[in-house]
Amino acid sequence: MFKVWIDAGHGGKDPGAVANGIQEKDIVLKVSIGIKNRLEADYENVQVLLSRSTDVFLELKERTTKSNAAGADLLVSIHCNAGGGKGGFESFRYTSASENSIKLQDKLHKAIMGKLGGIDRGQKAQNLHMVRESKMPAVLTENLFIDVVSDADRLKQTTVINAIIDGHVQGIAAYLGLVEKTKDDKPVSQRDINVPSKWAEATWAELTQKGYFDGKRPGATVTREELAVIVSRIVKSNFSNN
Ligand SMILES: [Zn+2]
Repeated sequence: MFKVWIDAGHGGKDPGAVANGIQEKDIVLKVSIGIKNRLEADYENVQVLLSRSTDVFLELKERTTKSNAAGADLLVSIHCNAGGGKGGFESFRYTSASENSIKLQDKLHKAIMGKLGGIDRGQKAQNLHMVRESKMPAVLTENLFIDVVSDADRLKQTTVINAIIDGHVQGIAAYLGLVEKTKDDKPVSQRDINVPSKWAEATWAELTQKGYFDGKRPGATVTREELAVIVSRIVKSNFSNN
């Protein structure tokens, strides 16, 4: 089981960059939780651990102490940028990064840019705590600028947040060589609800044929009123069979 450590920057009393009606700490938390959910839902053999899953403050040292103790296989620290300019995406490794950190940065950077588009500020190296003190391959991503109006407008869109999440998921999966789960193992939100799962195919056909279900949308969730109708059909058919 691969262990992926996702570090949402800032939190609690430290909001990170604040401008244009958004706060860095909120965006990076949303992205981090999204990465965990999607990576664990879509890929085999991977567990995602988070520095924080709520709006709490953590010192930088606490973050790396925990991820090192957990023996994570890689760490990605999620941030949004500030400082003006034209905006865009950039990523950081340590100034004397390992081969694997360089490889992780390259996979992540290309996957995120591929999903996000826009200005590519490049794959950079800097002496930052999170990438220096992590014992495992580590990269810090700066996902658009909070204080650049056009970037902030993008960060307010769900599709853009999803692109950032997808890019991270794809990059991590490529680096670790993760295997995608088969369609039937995926959660309801990511399957074709009009096609029955392999394991349920025969039962679905049988109960549809008996008239308990209408044969439509086998993968959809059922409401209480729909269930009441189904129960009523079962009760009535049992009664008539007696
Ligand atoms: Zn930050």
